[in-house]
Amino acid sequence: MNVRIGLDLGSTAIKAVILEDDRTLWRGLRSTTPGQEAVASSLIGEGLKETGLRKDQVSGVVSTGYGKKLFTAAGGSVDEITANAVGAFKLSGGKARVVINIGGQDVKILRLDERGGVVDFKMNDKCAAGTGRFLELAARILDSLISDFDDMAARSTEEVELNSTCAVFAESEIVSLLARGVKREDVIKALYVSIARRVAALVGQVSDVVYLDGGAAVNRGLASALEDELFTDARVLDAPQFTVAYGAALLARG
Ligand code: ADP
Repeated sequence: MNVRIGLDLGSTAIKAVILEDDRTLWRGLRSTTPGQEAVASSLIGEGLKETGLRKDQVSGVVSTGYGKKLFTAAGGSVDEITANAVGAFKLSGGKARVVINIGGQDVKILRLDERGGVVDFKMNDKCAAGTGRFLELAARILDSLISDFDDMAARSTEEVELNSTCAVFAESEIVSLLARGVKREDVIKALYVSIARRVAALVGQVSDVVYLDGGAAVNRGLASALEDELFTDARVLDAPQFTVAYGAALLARG
């Protein structure tokens, strides 16, 4: 039995994946809070308990993500671009050539070759408007849960434009739309389109299917808005928020 653990210490969430060979036994997630190392250790402890595994049965732990160096108990660390490429390539059955990761505070675009190697990489981490953070801000203003956004957006009946290119201005734009009586459902749909436009501008031209991961990819409505903007199919990878942790686990030595 070859048990490996991947830990992704992201800006918004800490994700852990436990693998037996290449098969996922367990996934877990906690919010990123100060004292990340303790949070990560307790997350792994929870995973071991739930899978009935002992520490000495784990052959490797690899950390990744912006807080990777904070988890000193890992056997090693790997940069998140490599971990994302490895995880997404494997989960796509070797098909992914363009991977779009929409995380809590940044968007990353990876272009891969036919062996899964990264040939190009772009990131936007300067502006919250095209990231999961924008969804979180909106959830607060709309007094709704992000996990309800898809159902709500599906009930949208009127097209609304969100014109602000900055999350801070968009926040007040949303407030004034609501004050004008625009439905929350229509605002969420507009939000998806607005994020999709910003992501598409970063992606540029694509001729291939794109693969989506990162926490915000959970929102199917966002994936479909992105398809409209990119004029191509967008496939959401399985358990998209965990792709990077999964890739790190695959890179752990067994
Ligand atoms: P990071 O790696 O930067 O910490 P993640 O890839 O974990 O970021 O993504 C975090 C984002 O995922 C949040 O900002 C939020 O927008 C989105 N998200 C988290 N949980 C859900 C959910 N249940 N449904 C939809 N979106 C979610």
